[in-house]
Formats: sequence, structure tokens, C-alpha cells
Amino acid sequence: MDISLETAAKLLTQANNLVITGHIHPDGDCLGSMLALQEYLESLDKKVELLLDDDLPTLYTFLPGSARIRRPGNTPVTTDLLVIVDASDAERVATVKTQVTGPVLNIDHHISNTKFADYWYIDTEAAATGEIILDILRHLKAEISSTIAINLYTAIATDCGFFRYANTTSATLRNAADLIDAGAQPHVIAEFMETKPLASILVLKNILDTLEIHHQGQIATITISPDIGDKGPDTTEGLINYPRNIEGVEIAIMFNLANSQTTRVSFRSRNVDVSRLALSFGGGGHVRAAGCTVIGQFSAVKRQILQAAKKLLAEYNQ
Ligand code: AMP
Ligand code: MN
Ligand code: MN
Repeated sequence: MDISLETAAKLLTQANNLVITGHIHPDGDCLGSMLALQEYLESLDKKVELLLDDDLPTLYTFLPGSARIRRPGNTPVTTDLLVIVDASDAERVATVKTQVTGPVLNIDHHISNTKFADYWYIDTEAAATGEIILDILRHLKAEISSTIAINLYTAIATDCGFFRYANTTSATLRNAADLIDAGAQPHVIAEFMETKPLASILVLKNILDTLEIHHQGQIATITISPDIGDKGPDTTEGLINYPRNIEGVEIAIMFNLANSQTTRVSFRSRNVDVSRLALSFGGGGHVRAAGCTVIGQFSAVKRQILQAAKKLLAEYNQ
């Protein structure tokens, strides 16, 4: 059921026991939104469990409360409300969705949202799910602590490329300003997110070597092979911006080979709607940032993806 922000707020405050989760391959928006919501609900004396069917990337261990996030065990969990933030479909929630029994509330901002929950509040205008959480907290007249501010600032900043992408609005900047007033320190958060282990930078040299240019310079790809070392978000976060930022490139694609049969694909564009591309391969995302996971031999997957990207560009150029 499509619900208003007010109803979403009411569902959250009416529940006494809650489980909060997000999507696999979690990013700053997913984690910051989960943690901010958890802190607020616990301040109302509710019992809140944070479950996620993935590891916490080292990059995000600075987020206050992140050590509380656990992987689901084998025992089923019953809850008053399962809150799923920043995930557009059930597959992205993985085993948490099947392990936890209770009504499901989905709070999200993806244009590709499949409306899989019992209740959903989807604001595709929001730059990040963190902006929606902040809206909910404001509606509930919550006090924004410095730790909530750090989590929500990180959530918002991650999804709008630290206030540079097309989804950055004046409201995004006002939200960030409010969070700074509440105790978030942009330079400290940026420092945490930009500092990488040497090994990541050494891997980067090899990844940049795989750069390919297709379709008269309008498509650029990079490929992360399975044997390259750490392929997790600590290494790969932001790498797609290298092909994305090449002059004349309209669609950037990063192929991240988990193994010989599984490829995670990231898309970025300047204008064309790559969420359509990702959706056609079972994924999703936003107009200018999307992704999917494709099963099959890499050479065939790559051929299909490039073909679909070229078709999209041909339609767009008409
Ligand atoms: P990424 O390239 O992993 O940073 O993802 C870019 C955007 O696409 C994010 O908004 C993700 O939520 C979305 N996305 C990435 N992979 C998938 C997937 N397998 N299914 C649905 N959405 C995805
Ligand atoms: Mn996300
Ligand atoms: Mn998001």
C-alpha cells in the first residue's frame, strides 16, 4: 500500500519491536539511514534490531552505531515492523526478508522500486533515503543528536556525490546545513571516506589498465577481474567516476567479476536513463546511477550489456 510520510511516521512510532535493514552491498545512504532511524526509535524506548545480509564495508565502520549491525542468523525473527530502507526490491534485502516475519515498511527513493512491501513510502525526488529519514524525524519533532547528524549527513552526501550530482537540490544543501548545525563535520566525514589503504590504490593502477572506449567514445568501460585482490567497496567505491568523467562519454560501465559466472555491473550516465538498462537485466537504480548483477559467462554478459547500452544511446540520439 502506498502511504504518506505521516502514515510511515505513525507506523514507526506505533511499533514497539522493530527490525531495520537495507540492501546488500550497502552504501553510505543505506547504512546512515538505518543507523539514524535506529537511534531515534531507541530514544523512544523501542527495541530495535539492525540486520543486514552482508558485511559492513570497512569504509563505513566510522558511522556511529555501525558495530550494532548483525547478519541474520538461522532462527526466524518475529517483529512488529520490518523497516527496509534504501532498497528497491526484495532480492536486494536477501535473507532478511525471508528470515523476518511481520508487516514490512519500505522507505526508499529509487525510481525502479518494485513496490514489494506491505507499506511503501517512495520519494523519487529525494537525493537520498537519508533525506526522507530526516523528513520523518522533523515531522516527529525529533531532536537531531550529533550521531544522527553524522549518519544522515553521510547518507545524503554519499548519494549526491558530496553535493555535485544532478540530484543535489537547494533542499539537499539545506538539509546538510541543518545536519552540520546538529554536529556533523563535513571534513571529518570526507576524510574517513577518502582515505584508502595503499593496496586499494595499487589495485586501481591495474583496473585503470582495463579501460575501453566504445561507440565513438560515448561508452567507456572498466573491468575488475576476479583475481585482482580486494574487489569490495573499500576499493571500488567511486572508481566508475574515471570512465564517467571522460570527455564525450555518455554511459560509463564498470564490470565487477565476483567469479567466472557472476558479474556486478554499475552504470553511470550524464543524461540517459540507465535505470532502464539496469532494470532490463534484473537490477535497478536511478536515472544517472544504476546497477545489476548478471549471471553467465563474462564475455557473453559484456556483449549483451554493450549492445543494450548502444541501443539506448541510439534511441536517445534520435
Ligand atoms: P552502484 O553502481 O552499486 O553504486 O549502484 C548504483 C545504483 O544502482 C544504486 O542506487 C543502487 O541501489 C542501484 N543498484 C545497483 N545494483 C543493483 C541491483 N543489483 N539491483 C537493483 N538496484 C541496483
Ligand atoms: Mn543505496
Ligand atoms: Mn540511496
